[in-house]
Amino acid sequence: MGKDEKFDVLVVGAGPGGYVCAIRCAQLGLKTGLIEKNPRLGGTCLNVGCIPSKALLHSTEIYHELLHSADSHGIVTKGISHDLGKLMKKKDAVVDQLGKGVQALVKKKGVTIISGAAKVLSNGQVEVSTSKSSTVFSAKEVILATGSKPVELPFLPFDGKKIVNSDHGIAFEKVPKKMVVIGGGAIGLELGCVWSRLGADVNIVEFLPEICPQLDPDVAKVARRILEKQGLKFLLSTKVTASKNSKNGTTLSLEVNGETSEISADRVLVAVGRGPCSDGLGLDELGVQSDDKGRVLVDAAFCTNISGVRAIGDLIPGPMLAHKAEEDGVACAEIIAGQAGHVNYDMVPGVIYVDPEIANVGLSEAQAREKQIAVRTGTFPLAANGRALATGATDGIVKVVADAETDRLLGVQIVARSASELIASAVAHMEYGGSAEDLARTIHAHPTLSESLKEAALSVEGRGLHSL
Ligand code: FAD
Ligand code: NAD
Repeated sequence: MGKDEKFDVLVVGAGPGGYVCAIRCAQLGLKTGLIEKNPRLGGTCLNVGCIPSKALLHSTEIYHELLHSADSHGIVTKGISHDLGKLMKKKDAVVDQLGKGVQALVKKKGVTIISGAAKVLSNGQVEVSTSKSSTVFSAKEVILATGSKPVELPFLPFDGKKIVNSDHGIAFEKVPKKMVVIGGGAIGLELGCVWSRLGADVNIVEFLPEICPQLDPDVAKVARRILEKQGLKFLLSTKVTASKNSKNGTTLSLEVNGETSEISADRVLVAVGRGPCSDGLGLDELGVQSDDKGRVLVDAAFCTNISGVRAIGDLIPGPMLAHKAEEDGVACAEIIAGQAGHVNYDMVPGVIYVDPEIANVGLSEAQAREKQIAVRTGTFPLAANGRALATGATDGIVKVVADAETDRLLGVQIVARSASELIASAVAHMEYGGSAEDLARTIHAHPTLSESLKEAALSVEGRGLHSL
Protein backbone atom coordinates (compact mmCIF):
# COMPACT_ATOMS: atom_id res chain seq x y z
CA MET A 1 0.00 0.00 0.00
CA GLY A 2 1.45 3.33 -0.94
CA LYS A 3 0.83 6.91 -1.85
CA ASP A 4 0.21 6.14 -5.49
CA GLU A 5 -2.29 3.38 -4.81
CA LYS A 6 -5.65 4.52 -6.13
CA PHE A 7 -8.84 3.24 -4.51
CA ASP A 8 -12.35 3.16 -5.89
CA VAL A 9 -13.64 4.02 -2.45
CA LEU A 10 -12.05 5.35 0.73
CA VAL A 11 -14.25 5.07 3.82
CA VAL A 12 -13.29 7.35 6.74
CA GLY A 13 -14.26 5.88 10.12
CA ALA A 14 -14.64 2.20 11.03
CA GLY A 15 -17.80 2.26 13.16
CA PRO A 16 -20.81 0.13 12.19
CA GLY A 17 -21.56 2.58 9.37
CA GLY A 18 -18.04 2.70 7.95
CA TYR A 19 -16.84 -0.89 8.30
CA VAL A 20 -20.11 -2.38 7.01
CA CYS A 21 -20.04 0.06 4.09
CA ALA A 22 -16.45 -0.98 3.33
CA ILE A 23 -17.36 -4.67 3.42
CA ARG A 24 -20.31 -4.12 1.04
CA CYS A 25 -18.11 -2.05 -1.30
CA ALA A 26 -15.57 -4.88 -1.42
CA GLN A 27 -18.32 -7.46 -1.99
CA LEU A 28 -19.42 -5.40 -4.99
CA GLY A 29 -15.92 -5.54 -6.47
CA LEU A 30 -14.80 -2.05 -5.52
CA LYS A 31 -11.20 -1.54 -4.40
CA THR A 32 -11.81 -0.23 -0.89
CA GLY A 33 -9.71 1.38 1.85
CA LEU A 34 -11.01 1.87 5.42
CA ILE A 35 -9.32 4.63 7.43
CA GLU A 36 -9.56 4.55 11.24
CA LYS A 37 -7.71 6.63 13.82
CA ASN A 38 -8.57 4.41 16.79
CA PRO A 39 -6.34 1.35 17.31
CA ARG A 40 -9.43 -0.87 17.40
CA LEU A 41 -12.09 -0.87 14.68
CA GLY A 42 -15.80 -0.87 15.55
CA GLY A 43 -16.32 2.81 16.39
CA THR A 44 -18.45 4.15 19.22
CA CYS A 45 -20.71 1.10 19.05
CA LEU A 46 -18.05 -1.49 19.80
CA ASN A 47 -15.60 0.51 21.90
CA VAL A 48 -17.72 2.73 24.15
CA GLY A 49 -21.35 2.25 23.10
CA CYS A 50 -23.71 -0.61 22.29
CA ILE A 51 -21.45 -3.50 23.21
CA PRO A 52 -19.83 -2.43 26.51
CA SER A 53 -23.11 -0.97 27.77
CA LYS A 54 -24.99 -4.19 26.97
CA ALA A 55 -22.28 -6.28 28.67
CA LEU A 56 -22.64 -4.14 31.82
CA LEU A 57 -26.44 -4.26 31.61
CA HIS A 58 -26.38 -8.05 31.39
CA SER A 59 -23.96 -8.57 34.30
CA THR A 60 -25.84 -6.16 36.54
CA GLU A 61 -29.18 -7.68 35.54
CA ILE A 62 -28.00 -11.08 36.79
CA TYR A 63 -26.85 -9.46 40.04
CA HIS A 64 -30.14 -7.58 40.46
CA GLU A 65 -32.19 -10.72 39.74
CA LEU A 66 -30.27 -12.75 42.28
CA LEU A 67 -30.64 -10.04 44.91
CA HIS A 68 -34.30 -9.28 44.37
CA SER A 69 -36.04 -12.17 42.57
CA ALA A 70 -34.19 -15.38 43.38
CA ASP A 71 -36.11 -15.84 46.61
CA SER A 72 -39.48 -15.78 44.79
CA HIS A 73 -38.28 -18.74 42.65
CA GLY A 74 -37.30 -20.70 45.76
CA ILE A 75 -33.61 -20.13 45.18
CA VAL A 76 -31.74 -19.47 48.39
CA THR A 77 -28.98 -16.92 48.02
CA LYS A 78 -26.79 -15.76 50.84
CA GLY A 79 -24.02 -13.21 50.91
CA ILE A 80 -24.42 -12.10 47.29
CA SER A 81 -22.04 -9.27 46.43
CA HIS A 82 -20.27 -7.94 43.37
CA ASP A 83 -16.68 -7.43 42.29
CA LEU A 84 -16.66 -4.29 40.13
CA GLY A 85 -13.13 -4.89 38.83
CA LYS A 86 -14.10 -8.35 37.54
CA LEU A 87 -17.34 -7.05 36.09
CA MET A 88 -15.41 -4.40 34.12
CA LYS A 89 -12.84 -6.99 32.99
CA LYS A 90 -15.64 -9.17 31.62
CA LYS A 91 -17.01 -6.17 29.66
CA ASP A 92 -13.50 -5.32 28.37
CA ALA A 93 -12.95 -8.93 27.29
CA VAL A 94 -16.19 -8.88 25.27
CA VAL A 95 -15.13 -5.64 23.56
CA ASP A 96 -11.67 -7.01 22.88
CA GLN A 97 -12.96 -10.27 21.40
CA LEU A 98 -15.46 -8.54 19.14
CA GLY A 99 -12.84 -5.98 18.10
CA LYS A 100 -10.51 -8.77 16.95
CA GLY A 101 -13.46 -10.35 15.14
CA VAL A 102 -14.29 -7.16 13.24
CA GLN A 103 -10.62 -6.63 12.30
CA ALA A 104 -10.33 -10.17 10.93
CA LEU A 105 -13.67 -9.94 9.13
CA VAL A 106 -12.88 -6.66 7.38
CA LYS A 107 -9.48 -7.97 6.23
CA LYS A 108 -10.95 -11.27 5.02
CA LYS A 109 -13.51 -9.41 2.95
CA GLY A 110 -10.67 -7.78 1.01
CA VAL A 111 -10.78 -4.29 2.53
CA THR A 112 -7.46 -2.47 3.04
CA ILE A 113 -7.27 -1.09 6.59
CA ILE A 114 -5.40 2.23 6.85
CA SER A 115 -4.49 3.40 10.37
CA GLY A 116 -4.44 7.11 11.17
CA ALA A 117 -6.51 10.28 11.35
CA ALA A 118 -7.98 11.38 8.03
CA LYS A 119 -8.27 14.86 6.61
CA VAL A 120 -10.19 15.16 3.37
CA LEU A 121 -8.45 17.25 0.72
CA SER A 122 -9.92 18.16 -2.65
CA ASN A 123 -10.30 15.94 -5.74
CA GLY A 124 -10.73 12.63 -3.91
CA GLN A 125 -7.54 12.95 -1.93
CA VAL A 126 -7.35 12.05 1.75
CA GLU A 127 -4.38 12.75 4.00
CA VAL A 128 -3.90 10.14 6.72
CA SER A 129 -1.65 11.09 9.65
CA THR A 130 -0.16 9.07 12.47
CA SER A 131 2.27 10.32 15.12
CA LYS A 132 5.10 9.21 12.79
CA SER A 133 4.05 10.09 9.27
CA SER A 134 1.44 11.37 6.93
CA THR A 135 0.41 9.90 3.58
CA VAL A 136 -2.03 11.06 0.91
CA PHE A 137 -4.34 8.46 -0.63
CA SER A 138 -6.80 9.01 -3.42
CA ALA A 139 -10.10 7.52 -4.49
CA LYS A 140 -12.98 8.09 -6.89
CA GLU A 141 -15.39 8.23 -3.94
CA VAL A 142 -14.75 9.27 -0.33
CA ILE A 143 -17.36 8.22 2.26
CA LEU A 144 -17.38 10.06 5.58
CA ALA A 145 -18.47 7.83 8.49
CA THR A 146 -16.85 9.58 11.45
CA GLY A 147 -19.84 9.22 13.76
CA SER A 148 -20.73 11.27 16.81
CA LYS A 149 -19.58 12.40 20.25
CA PRO A 150 -21.37 13.34 23.51
CA VAL A 151 -22.97 16.79 23.71
CA GLU A 152 -21.71 19.00 26.56
CA LEU A 153 -23.87 21.43 28.54
CA PRO A 154 -22.24 24.89 28.49
CA PHE A 155 -22.04 25.20 32.29
CA LEU A 156 -21.03 21.55 32.85
CA PRO A 157 -17.85 20.77 30.90
CA PHE A 158 -16.76 17.13 31.14
CA ASP A 159 -13.83 16.59 33.51
CA GLY A 160 -14.00 12.79 33.45
CA LYS A 161 -14.30 12.65 37.24
CA LYS A 162 -17.25 14.56 38.66
CA ILE A 163 -18.88 15.59 35.39
CA VAL A 164 -18.85 12.68 33.00
CA ASN A 165 -20.24 11.39 29.72
CA SER A 166 -21.03 7.84 28.66
CA ASP A 167 -17.38 7.12 27.75
CA HIS A 168 -16.54 7.54 31.45
CA GLY A 169 -19.89 6.13 32.65
CA ILE A 170 -19.07 2.64 31.31
CA ALA A 171 -15.77 2.52 33.21
CA PHE A 172 -16.12 3.95 36.75
CA GLU A 173 -13.58 2.38 39.08
CA LYS A 174 -16.03 2.50 41.99
CA VAL A 175 -19.77 2.67 42.40
CA PRO A 176 -20.90 6.27 42.98
CA LYS A 177 -22.80 6.89 46.20
CA LYS A 178 -25.01 9.56 44.68
CA MET A 179 -25.31 9.91 40.94
CA VAL A 180 -27.33 12.45 38.99
CA VAL A 181 -28.02 11.66 35.35
CA ILE A 182 -29.07 14.57 33.16
CA GLY A 183 -31.28 13.22 30.36
CA GLY A 184 -33.91 10.47 30.54
CA GLY A 185 -33.14 9.02 27.09
CA ALA A 186 -31.34 5.85 26.03
CA ILE A 187 -28.01 6.49 27.76
CA GLY A 188 -29.55 7.99 30.90
CA LEU A 189 -31.82 5.01 31.44
CA GLU A 190 -29.29 2.30 30.53
CA LEU A 191 -26.36 3.63 32.53
CA GLY A 192 -28.68 4.88 35.29
CA CYS A 193 -29.89 1.26 35.66
CA VAL A 194 -26.36 -0.19 35.60
CA TRP A 195 -25.18 1.97 38.51
CA SER A 196 -28.45 1.83 40.43
CA ARG A 197 -28.35 -1.99 40.32
CA LEU A 198 -24.84 -1.87 41.75
CA GLY A 199 -25.99 0.28 44.67
CA ALA A 200 -25.78 3.93 43.58
CA ASP A 201 -28.56 6.33 44.55
CA VAL A 202 -29.56 7.50 41.05
CA ASN A 203 -31.68 10.55 40.20
CA ILE A 204 -32.52 11.12 36.52
CA VAL A 205 -33.27 14.73 35.59
CA GLU A 206 -35.34 15.12 32.43
CA PHE A 207 -36.56 18.43 31.11
CA LEU A 208 -39.58 17.00 29.29
CA PRO A 209 -42.70 15.94 31.25
CA GLU A 210 -42.01 12.24 30.56
CA ILE A 211 -39.07 9.97 29.70
CA CYS A 212 -38.65 8.46 26.21
CA PRO A 213 -40.39 11.05 23.99
CA GLN A 214 -40.45 8.53 21.12
CA LEU A 215 -43.16 6.61 23.03
CA ASP A 216 -46.75 7.55 23.81
CA PRO A 217 -47.02 8.94 27.34
CA ASP A 218 -49.20 5.99 28.51
CA VAL A 219 -46.46 3.52 27.48
CA ALA A 220 -43.57 5.68 28.74
CA LYS A 221 -45.33 6.01 32.08
CA VAL A 222 -45.55 2.21 32.43
CA ALA A 223 -41.80 1.98 31.75
CA ARG A 224 -40.97 4.76 34.21
CA ARG A 225 -43.13 3.28 36.99
CA ILE A 226 -41.35 -0.08 36.61
CA LEU A 227 -37.94 1.60 36.79
CA GLU A 228 -39.06 3.56 39.85
CA LYS A 229 -40.00 0.27 41.56
CA GLN A 230 -36.42 -0.83 40.86
CA GLY A 231 -35.06 2.20 42.73
CA LEU A 232 -34.45 4.86 40.05
CA LYS A 233 -35.76 8.32 40.86
CA PHE A 234 -37.01 10.69 38.16
CA LEU A 235 -37.18 14.48 38.28
CA LEU A 236 -39.40 15.33 35.30
CA SER A 237 -40.09 18.74 33.69
CA THR A 238 -36.90 19.76 35.46
CA LYS A 239 -34.21 22.08 34.13
CA VAL A 240 -30.64 22.14 35.39
CA THR A 241 -29.70 25.82 35.47
CA ALA A 242 -26.27 25.96 37.14
CA SER A 243 -23.65 23.89 38.92
CA LYS A 244 -21.05 24.47 41.61
CA ASN A 245 -18.38 22.32 43.18
CA SER A 246 -19.29 20.98 46.60
CA LYS A 247 -17.32 19.09 49.23
CA ASN A 248 -18.02 15.64 47.84
CA GLY A 249 -18.80 16.44 44.26
CA THR A 250 -21.17 18.78 42.47
CA THR A 251 -24.30 20.65 43.46
CA LEU A 252 -26.76 21.35 40.66
CA SER A 253 -29.41 24.08 40.70
CA LEU A 254 -32.76 22.80 39.46
CA GLU A 255 -35.88 24.57 38.28
CA VAL A 256 -39.39 23.07 38.06
CA ASN A 257 -42.28 25.35 37.11
CA GLY A 258 -40.44 28.40 38.43
CA GLU A 259 -39.56 26.69 41.75
CA THR A 260 -35.87 26.24 42.43
CA SER A 261 -34.05 23.54 44.38
CA GLU A 262 -30.61 21.90 44.59
CA ILE A 263 -29.32 18.37 44.27
CA SER A 264 -25.81 17.09 45.02
CA ALA A 265 -23.95 14.10 43.64
CA ASP A 266 -20.46 12.64 43.57
CA ARG A 267 -20.93 11.89 39.84
CA VAL A 268 -23.01 13.81 37.30
CA LEU A 269 -23.55 11.91 34.05
CA VAL A 270 -24.59 14.21 31.22
CA ALA A 271 -26.62 12.25 28.65
CA VAL A 272 -28.51 14.90 26.68
CA GLY A 273 -27.74 13.55 23.23
CA ARG A 274 -24.82 13.24 20.84
CA GLY A 275 -23.58 15.53 18.10
CA PRO A 276 -21.69 14.86 14.84
CA CYS A 277 -17.94 14.26 15.02
CA SER A 278 -15.98 15.94 12.23
CA ASP A 279 -12.96 17.23 14.19
CA GLY A 280 -9.89 17.59 11.97
CA LEU A 281 -11.68 16.22 8.90
CA GLY A 282 -11.18 19.45 6.99
CA LEU A 283 -14.84 19.83 6.04
CA ASP A 284 -14.90 23.62 6.38
CA GLU A 285 -11.87 24.07 4.10
CA LEU A 286 -13.53 21.77 1.61
CA GLY A 287 -16.85 23.66 1.85
CA VAL A 288 -18.99 20.67 2.87
CA GLN A 289 -22.48 21.88 3.86
CA SER A 290 -23.87 21.03 7.27
CA ASP A 291 -26.97 21.95 9.32
CA ASP A 292 -27.11 24.12 12.46
CA LYS A 293 -26.07 21.11 14.58
CA GLY A 294 -23.03 20.43 12.38
CA ARG A 295 -24.55 17.30 10.79
CA VAL A 296 -23.37 16.83 7.22
CA LEU A 297 -26.19 17.34 4.73
CA VAL A 298 -26.67 14.66 2.08
CA ASP A 299 -29.19 13.79 -0.62
CA ALA A 300 -30.96 10.44 -1.06
CA ALA A 301 -27.75 8.98 -2.56
CA PHE A 302 -25.71 10.12 0.49
CA CYS A 303 -23.94 12.74 -1.66
CA THR A 304 -22.75 15.93 0.02
CA ASN A 305 -22.58 19.17 -1.96
CA ILE A 306 -18.96 18.31 -2.86
CA SER A 307 -18.64 15.97 -5.84
CA GLY A 308 -17.18 12.56 -4.87
CA VAL A 309 -17.74 13.05 -1.12
CA ARG A 310 -20.61 11.16 0.56
CA ALA A 311 -21.56 10.75 4.23
CA ILE A 312 -23.44 8.16 6.33
CA GLY A 313 -24.33 7.13 9.90
CA ASP A 314 -24.35 9.38 12.98
CA LEU A 315 -22.58 12.13 11.02
CA ILE A 316 -25.74 12.85 9.00
CA PRO A 317 -29.28 13.71 10.21
CA GLY A 318 -31.44 10.78 11.36
CA PRO A 319 -31.62 8.37 14.28
CA MET A 320 -28.21 7.83 15.88
CA LEU A 321 -28.33 4.04 15.94
CA ALA A 322 -25.83 1.39 14.89
CA HIS A 323 -28.27 -0.55 12.69
CA LYS A 324 -29.32 2.66 10.93
CA ALA A 325 -25.63 3.49 10.28
CA GLU A 326 -25.12 -0.03 8.88
CA GLU A 327 -28.11 0.29 6.55
CA ASP A 328 -26.82 3.68 5.35
CA GLY A 329 -23.46 2.02 4.67
CA VAL A 330 -24.93 -0.84 2.64
CA ALA A 331 -27.22 1.43 0.61
CA CYS A 332 -24.41 3.92 -0.06
CA ALA A 333 -22.10 1.15 -1.32
CA GLU A 334 -24.83 -0.26 -3.55
CA ILE A 335 -25.62 3.15 -5.05
CA ILE A 336 -21.92 3.72 -5.82
CA ALA A 337 -21.86 0.30 -7.53
CA GLY A 338 -24.81 1.31 -9.70
CA GLN A 339 -27.46 -0.61 -7.74
CA ALA A 340 -30.68 0.69 -6.17
CA GLY A 341 -29.56 0.98 -2.54
CA HIS A 342 -32.36 2.21 -0.28
CA VAL A 343 -33.11 2.62 3.45
CA ASN A 344 -36.67 2.71 4.78
CA TYR A 345 -36.21 5.30 7.54
CA ASP A 346 -39.83 4.82 8.69
CA MET A 347 -38.97 1.33 9.89
CA VAL A 348 -35.92 1.84 12.09
CA PRO A 349 -36.61 0.10 15.40
CA GLY A 350 -35.26 1.59 18.63
CA VAL A 351 -34.54 -0.35 21.80
CA ILE A 352 -33.51 0.71 25.28
CA TYR A 353 -31.98 -2.30 27.00
CA VAL A 354 -33.20 -1.84 30.57
CA ASP A 355 -35.27 -4.56 32.25
CA PRO A 356 -37.92 -4.83 30.91
CA GLU A 357 -36.65 -3.62 27.56
CA ILE A 358 -38.33 -0.69 25.83
CA ALA A 359 -38.74 -1.03 22.05
CA ASN A 360 -40.58 0.88 19.37
CA VAL A 361 -40.95 1.13 15.64
CA GLY A 362 -42.91 3.45 13.38
CA LEU A 363 -45.33 6.08 14.61
CA SER A 364 -46.65 6.48 18.12
CA GLU A 365 -50.33 7.34 18.49
CA ALA A 366 -49.39 10.97 19.23
CA GLN A 367 -47.13 11.19 16.18
CA ALA A 368 -49.83 9.72 13.92
CA ARG A 369 -52.40 12.20 15.22
CA GLU A 370 -49.94 15.06 14.65
CA LYS A 371 -49.83 13.92 11.02
CA GLN A 372 -53.66 14.07 10.96
CA ILE A 373 -53.90 10.28 10.56
CA ALA A 374 -56.98 8.75 12.19
CA VAL A 375 -55.83 5.73 14.22
CA ARG A 376 -57.14 2.82 16.24
CA THR A 377 -54.97 1.39 18.98
CA GLY A 378 -54.79 -1.83 20.94
CA THR A 379 -52.88 -2.59 24.13
CA PHE A 380 -52.09 -5.72 26.11
CA PRO A 381 -50.56 -5.89 29.58
CA LEU A 382 -47.77 -8.43 30.08
CA ALA A 383 -49.41 -9.35 33.40
CA ALA A 384 -52.07 -11.27 31.39
CA ASN A 385 -49.49 -13.38 29.49
CA GLY A 386 -48.87 -16.93 30.73
CA ARG A 387 -45.17 -17.07 29.89
CA ALA A 388 -44.63 -13.71 31.59
CA LEU A 389 -46.27 -15.06 34.72
CA ALA A 390 -44.24 -18.29 34.64
CA THR A 391 -40.95 -16.42 34.27
CA GLY A 392 -41.58 -13.42 36.53
CA ALA A 393 -41.72 -10.99 33.61
CA THR A 394 -45.19 -9.54 34.12
CA ASP A 395 -44.09 -5.91 34.11
CA GLY A 396 -44.86 -4.23 30.80
CA ILE A 397 -47.26 -3.45 28.02
CA VAL A 398 -47.60 -3.77 24.23
CA LYS A 399 -49.31 -1.07 22.19
CA VAL A 400 -50.24 -1.37 18.52
CA VAL A 401 -51.18 1.68 16.43
CA ALA A 402 -53.11 1.05 13.20
CA ASP A 403 -54.58 3.28 10.51
CA ALA A 404 -58.31 3.61 11.33
CA GLU A 405 -59.32 3.43 7.68
CA THR A 406 -57.01 0.81 6.19
CA ASP A 407 -55.98 -1.10 9.36
CA ARG A 408 -52.35 -0.84 8.15
CA LEU A 409 -49.90 -1.11 11.06
CA LEU A 410 -48.34 2.29 11.71
CA GLY A 411 -46.35 1.60 14.84
CA VAL A 412 -45.68 -0.74 17.74
CA GLN A 413 -44.35 0.01 21.21
CA ILE A 414 -43.29 -2.73 23.60
CA VAL A 415 -42.22 -2.62 27.24
CA ALA A 416 -41.37 -6.25 28.01
CA ARG A 417 -38.51 -8.57 28.72
CA SER A 418 -36.95 -9.44 25.33
CA ALA A 419 -38.74 -6.52 23.64
CA SER A 420 -35.57 -6.18 21.54
CA GLU A 421 -36.36 -9.56 19.96
CA LEU A 422 -40.16 -9.15 19.92
CA ILE A 423 -40.00 -5.90 17.95
CA ALA A 424 -38.43 -7.72 14.98
CA SER A 425 -41.70 -9.40 14.00
CA ALA A 426 -43.52 -6.05 14.20
CA VAL A 427 -40.88 -4.53 11.90
CA ALA A 428 -41.28 -7.41 9.43
CA HIS A 429 -45.09 -7.08 9.37
CA MET A 430 -44.80 -3.33 8.84
CA GLU A 431 -42.08 -3.64 6.19
CA TYR A 432 -44.43 -5.79 4.12
CA GLY A 433 -47.34 -3.39 4.64
CA GLY A 434 -49.13 -5.70 7.11
CA SER A 435 -52.32 -4.77 8.94
CA ALA A 436 -53.28 -5.18 12.59
CA GLU A 437 -55.53 -8.01 11.38
CA ASP A 438 -52.51 -9.74 9.73
CA LEU A 439 -50.60 -9.58 13.02
CA ALA A 440 -53.67 -10.75 14.96
CA ARG A 441 -54.09 -13.77 12.64
CA THR A 442 -50.41 -14.75 12.68
CA ILE A 443 -49.90 -17.86 14.81
CA HIS A 444 -47.58 -17.20 17.74
CA ALA A 445 -46.26 -20.16 19.74
CA HIS A 446 -47.69 -20.73 23.22
CA PRO A 447 -46.51 -19.93 25.81
CA THR A 448 -44.39 -17.03 24.59
CA LEU A 449 -44.17 -13.33 25.35
CA SER A 450 -44.79 -12.78 21.63
CA GLU A 451 -48.45 -13.71 22.15
CA SER A 452 -48.76 -10.26 23.76
CA LEU A 453 -48.10 -8.71 20.37
CA LYS A 454 -50.88 -10.78 18.76
CA GLU A 455 -53.24 -9.91 21.64
CA ALA A 456 -52.51 -6.17 21.34
CA ALA A 457 -53.28 -6.45 17.61
CA LEU A 458 -56.52 -8.33 18.38
CA SER A 459 -57.57 -5.60 20.78
CA VAL A 460 -57.34 -3.00 17.97
CA GLU A 461 -60.63 -4.65 16.86
CA GLY A 462 -61.80 -4.89 20.47
CA ARG A 463 -61.55 -8.69 20.37
CA GLY A 464 -58.66 -9.50 22.67
CA LEU A 465 -58.97 -13.12 23.85
CA HIS A 466 -56.97 -12.93 27.05
CA SER A 467 -57.62 -9.38 28.22
CA LEU A 468 -60.74 -7.89 29.77
P1 FAD B 1 -19.14 5.65 15.06
O1 FAD B 1 -19.52 4.33 15.60
O2 FAD B 1 -19.11 6.80 16.00
O3 FAD B 1 -17.73 5.45 14.36
C1 FAD B 1 -17.01 6.53 13.85
C2 FAD B 1 -15.55 6.12 13.72
O4 FAD B 1 -14.86 7.12 13.00
C3 FAD B 1 -14.82 5.97 15.05
O5 FAD B 1 -14.18 4.73 15.11
C4 FAD B 1 -13.81 7.12 15.05
O6 FAD B 1 -12.62 6.79 15.75
C5 FAD B 1 -13.57 7.28 13.56
N1 FAD B 1 -13.07 8.61 13.18
C6 FAD B 1 -13.58 9.82 13.54
N2 FAD B 1 -12.88 10.82 12.96
C7 FAD B 1 -11.90 10.22 12.23
C8 FAD B 1 -10.87 10.72 11.39
N3 FAD B 1 -10.69 12.02 11.18
N4 FAD B 1 -10.05 9.82 10.81
C9 FAD B 1 -10.20 8.48 11.00
N5 FAD B 1 -11.16 7.96 11.77
C10 FAD B 1 -12.02 8.81 12.36
N6 FAD B 1 -26.93 2.17 19.00
C11 FAD B 1 -27.70 1.08 18.84
O7 FAD B 1 -28.21 0.86 17.73
N7 FAD B 1 -27.91 0.18 19.86
C12 FAD B 1 -27.38 0.37 21.08
O8 FAD B 1 -27.59 -0.46 21.97
C13 FAD B 1 -26.58 1.51 21.30
N8 FAD B 1 -26.02 1.72 22.50
C14 FAD B 1 -25.21 2.82 22.67
C15 FAD B 1 -24.66 3.04 23.94
C16 FAD B 1 -23.86 4.13 24.17
C17 FAD B 1 -23.26 4.36 25.54
C18 FAD B 1 -23.57 5.04 23.09
C19 FAD B 1 -22.67 6.21 23.31
C20 FAD B 1 -24.12 4.83 21.84
C21 FAD B 1 -24.95 3.73 21.62
N9 FAD B 1 -25.55 3.49 20.38
C22 FAD B 1 -26.37 2.40 20.21
C23 FAD B 1 -25.33 4.40 19.23
C24 FAD B 1 -24.30 3.81 18.27
O9 FAD B 1 -23.10 3.55 18.97
C25 FAD B 1 -24.04 4.78 17.12
O10 FAD B 1 -25.27 5.11 16.50
C26 FAD B 1 -23.13 4.14 16.07
O11 FAD B 1 -21.89 3.76 16.62
C27 FAD B 1 -22.89 5.11 14.90
O12 FAD B 1 -22.06 4.49 13.96
P2 FAD B 1 -21.13 5.32 12.95
O13 FAD B 1 -20.42 4.30 12.14
O14 FAD B 1 -21.92 6.35 12.27
O15 FAD B 1 -20.10 6.11 13.88
P1 NAD C 1 -31.27 10.82 23.77
O1 NAD C 1 -31.60 11.75 22.68
O2 NAD C 1 -31.68 9.39 23.67
O3 NAD C 1 -31.88 11.35 25.15
C1 NAD C 1 -31.56 12.60 25.66
C2 NAD C 1 -32.60 12.97 26.69
O4 NAD C 1 -32.12 14.11 27.38
C3 NAD C 1 -33.96 13.35 26.09
O5 NAD C 1 -34.98 12.69 26.79
C4 NAD C 1 -34.01 14.87 26.25
O6 NAD C 1 -35.32 15.35 26.43
C5 NAD C 1 -33.17 15.07 27.50
N1 NAD C 1 -32.51 16.36 27.61
C6 NAD C 1 -31.89 17.07 26.64
N2 NAD C 1 -31.35 18.19 27.14
C7 NAD C 1 -31.61 18.19 28.48
C8 NAD C 1 -31.30 19.07 29.56
N3 NAD C 1 -30.59 20.17 29.35
N4 NAD C 1 -31.74 18.74 30.79
C9 NAD C 1 -32.45 17.60 31.01
N5 NAD C 1 -32.77 16.73 30.03
C10 NAD C 1 -32.35 17.02 28.78
O7 NAD C 1 -29.67 10.96 23.96
P2 NAD C 1 -28.66 10.06 24.79
O8 NAD C 1 -29.37 9.23 25.80
O9 NAD C 1 -27.57 10.99 25.21
O10 NAD C 1 -28.08 9.10 23.67
C11 NAD C 1 -27.33 9.65 22.57
C12 NAD C 1 -27.57 8.88 21.31
O11 NAD C 1 -27.04 7.57 21.44
C13 NAD C 1 -29.05 8.75 20.99
O12 NAD C 1 -29.26 9.19 19.68
C14 NAD C 1 -29.35 7.30 21.12
O13 NAD C 1 -30.20 6.84 20.09
C15 NAD C 1 -28.00 6.61 21.06
N6 NAD C 1 -28.04 5.50 22.02
C16 NAD C 1 -28.81 4.43 21.70
C17 NAD C 1 -28.90 3.39 22.59
C18 NAD C 1 -29.75 2.22 22.24
O14 NAD C 1 -30.12 2.10 21.08
N7 NAD C 1 -30.04 1.32 23.17
C19 NAD C 1 -28.24 3.42 23.80
C20 NAD C 1 -27.47 4.55 24.10
C21 NAD C 1 -27.38 5.57 23.18
